[in-house]
Amino acid sequence: MNKFSFFMPTKMVFGPDVVREAGAGLALGKKALIVTGRSSARRSGALDDVLSVLPGEYVVFDQVENNPSVETVIEGGKVAKEEGCDYVLAIGGGSPLDAAKVMAVLAVNDAHPLQLYKDGWQNRALPIVAIPTTAGTGSEVTQYAVLTIAEEQTKKGLGGPDLFPQVAYLDPKYTESLPLDVTIDTAVDALSHLVESYLSQRATEASELPALQGIALWGTTIPALRKKVIDREARAALLLASSLGGIAIAQTGTALVHALGYSLTYYDGLPHGRANGVCMPAYLEYTKTVAPERVDTILELLELPSLAAFGGLMHELFAGIGGTLQLSAETIEHYVTKAMLTKNIKNSLGDPSAEDLARILSRGSDPRS
Ligand code: NAP
Ligand code: FE
Repeated sequence: MNKFSFFMPTKMVFGPDVVREAGAGLALGKKALIVTGRSSARRSGALDDVLSVLPGEYVVFDQVENNPSVETVIEGGKVAKEEGCDYVLAIGGGSPLDAAKVMAVLAVNDAHPLQLYKDGWQNRALPIVAIPTTAGTGSEVTQYAVLTIAEEQTKKGLGGPDLFPQVAYLDPKYTESLPLDVTIDTAVDALSHLVESYLSQRATEASELPALQGIALWGTTIPALRKKVIDREARAALLLASSLGGIAIAQTGTALVHALGYSLTYYDGLPHGRANGVCMPAYLEYTKTVAPERVDTILELLELPSLAAFGGLMHELFAGIGGTLQLSAETIEHYVTKAMLTKNIKNSLGDPSAEDLARILSRGSDPRS
């Protein structure tokens, strides 16, 4: 066995009604900055549950947009400072969870978010409670926050050990209000974390355990995803699979799928998970040439007979919600150049070249593939 380290300091509390049952224990301080998107924290019932038991004071910042911007986290950090908040409670999908993490840093550090990428930060971020309402990003158990950086025309992950939430409360019922398209997009994001982590250069004996378990669990939801009728049991499996994906990428990072997907979101507006789903079949085909047993293990766990069946599944899931796009050769070159600059590429097996990435992206943007 190889040497490795494994760090995941978040306490996970999983199951129905865990937020209400936490009671006063939900508070990590005297005054919370509650960070949410515009409506889903209310629609999912999570905010009501929180407010019904949270002791102490709070202020709500409910302006986080999808793929959060630098401006939004500056705004939230300012509110936390002015209001004297001593912890952050995030409710929502990856966007509010990630934004909340950066706000927790800015609340106690005088810095511009772009400086954090370059120089890190001195003072430990405020403690964070995370309550996911999507089953996709795993942000509730990772040390990452992804922001949209307009200056660089891309999305970029920030990381630090104090960005791991202190506690994550996972109640599958909060995902029941998700529209079908977001359910599918986020489910595919979870799968891409599990797969990219298992196929990472940085995978270890320990990171593979949550990744493999998560892929198998995700596989049990395929019939429900295909039927597009996602019952409570499938939602619980997706939420846990998504957290297992978070635990896995917290160790390994993501790989080339995420690197390419960021441009598909930034320039073409594809939701994050769908952007990954578009690239995944061709990514697996590429990886099969360098690590065939690993790709076969993934297919076996998903109970899919072949890579063609995997591609077919992605097609089926995105049918009717828009999972194809056509990119010119020039656009593909542009996205590949950007992706080649990311750390994610180095995580990918097989030392992929710009030509490999271009092939993956052109297959992904070919509606016949
Ligand atoms: P999201 O951007 O947080 O939310 C997508 C949409 O779903 C929003 O319109 C949101 O509404 C709505 N929504 C969320 N929960 C809902 C619910 N229970 N019922 C009804 N609507 C709901 O989506 P996401 O895919 O979870 O997060 C994507 C972001 O996470 C991206 O920026 C991505 O790069 C990042 N990410 C982070 C990590 C990490 O490790 N930190 C990993 C992967 C991806 P509201 O606006 O009203 O909330
Ligand atoms: Fe992701």
